[in-house]
Amino acid sequence: MNKKSVKDINVTGKTCLVRVDFNVPIKDGVITDTTRIEGAVPTIKYLIGKGAKVILCSHLGRPKGEFNLKYSLKPAADKLGEYLGVKVKFAEDVIGPAAKKAKAEIKPGEVVLLENLRFHNEEEANDKDFCKTLSEGIDVYVNDAFGTAHRAHASTAGVAQYGFLKTAVAGLLIEKELEIMGGALEAPKRPFVAILGGAKVSDKIGVINNLLEKVDTLIVGGAMAYTFLKALGKNIGASLCENDKTELAKELIKKAEVKKVKFLLPVDNKIADAFSNDANQKIAEGNIPDGWQGLDIGPKTIAIFTAAIKDAKTVIWNGPMGVFEFENFAIGTKSVAEALSKIDAVTIIGGGDSAAAVTQLGYADKMTHISTGGGASLEFLEGLELPGVACLNDK
Ligand code: AMP
Repeated sequence: MNKKSVKDINVTGKTCLVRVDFNVPIKDGVITDTTRIEGAVPTIKYLIGKGAKVILCSHLGRPKGEFNLKYSLKPAADKLGEYLGVKVKFAEDVIGPAAKKAKAEIKPGEVVLLENLRFHNEEEANDKDFCKTLSEGIDVYVNDAFGTAHRAHASTAGVAQYGFLKTAVAGLLIEKELEIMGGALEAPKRPFVAILGGAKVSDKIGVINNLLEKVDTLIVGGAMAYTFLKALGKNIGASLCENDKTELAKELIKKAEVKKVKFLLPVDNKIADAFSNDANQKIAEGNIPDGWQGLDIGPKTIAIFTAAIKDAKTVIWNGPMGVFEFENFAIGTKSVAEALSKIDAVTIIGGGDSAAAVTQLGYADKMTHISTGGGASLEFLEGLELPGVACLNDK
C-alpha cells in the first residue's frame, strides 16, 4: 500500500480522530451483528497500546440529519468496551459541548466514541465548517472505515482533504483490505477466478470490465446472468433482465474472447413459475420457457462452476448465485461457498450478500478475507480511487 498507516507515524500522546464503521444492526437497543465493531478493535488496541488518545466517530443508519435516539451509537460504545476490556466513554453529541469536553479531558490510552455523525446533514454534504469543528483539538486523522471509504463525506475524507488534519493515515483494517484485495488484483496467484452474481449487471459493469483485464476465468451467476444469456440469443422466460444492457453484455462477452478469459455462464437453471420459495419449480437446461423465471443455477452449472473454483489459486467473489434468501433457491450460492471453503487458495469475499452467505454457512474462517465493505470493495475492484484512501498521506 502506498499510503501511510498508524504504524508509520508516532501516535504517542496524540489525540487521534478515528473514523470507524460502527454502522451495525440494532434491534431494541441490542446489537445483532458485531462484525464491524470487532473489525475496528485491532486499530483501537494498537493506538491505546501506544498511549494515543482515541476519539472515535462513525455513522449509524440514515437519521436524515436529526437527533434520533433510535440511531444513537451508545450501544456500540458499550459493546466496544467489552471487546477492549476498558471503558469506552460516550459523548452525547458530535461537535457540541459534550464532544468538546471529551476532547479536552481525554488522557493517553483512553477511548471516547462520539455520537452518530449523521445527526448532522453536514457530514454527508462534506461541509467545510463542519470538518473544521470536527477537527478541533485533534492531532491525527485515522481512517479505518473501509465500508464508507468510497464516500467523500466530512469524516471519511473532508477533514483531511480540506487540510484541517495534515497527518492522515489508514487504520489497520483499511490497510489489510487494501493489501489483500490490491495484492490479488496486482499480482494474483493463477489461475485467478472471479465470481460475480447478484441482481443487476448495471451495478457491476465497471467491475466486470476491470476484472476482464486481470482474471483467467470469469463466472457469472445470479439474476445478472440472464441479461448475458439473452444477449446470446437464449430464451430466458420471465427471468430478471436488463434489456437496455444486452448490447453491453455482448461487448463484455467479446472482450472476454479477446482477452482470452474463460467466461462461464449458467447452462441450466432452477426455475419457478412465480417469485416465491413455494412456487412450482423445476430444472431447465438451456432455454427457460415463457412464464418461468430462473431463481438459481442448476446442478450442471454448479458442477461447472465448482470445478473451475477447485483449480483456482486466487478467487474473488461478489454476489449470490440465486435468490438465496429463499431456501429452495439457495443451493447454488451454498455450493459456491462450500467449494471456496475447500480450496488451498487466496479467497476473497467482496462484502454484502456473499459475505453474509459465507458467514451464515459457517465458512467465514475458511476464507482468506471477507471484506467489510460491499460498495467500497466493488469500487476498489472496479479500479476506482476511493476518496477515503486518496485523502491519506502517501508513504
Ligand atoms: P446484489 O445486491 O446486486 O449483490 O444482489 C443481491 C440480490 O440478488 C439478492 O437479494 C438476490 O435475491 C438477488 N438475486 C440473485 N439471483 C437472482 C435471480 N435469479 N432472480 C432474482 N433475484 C436474484
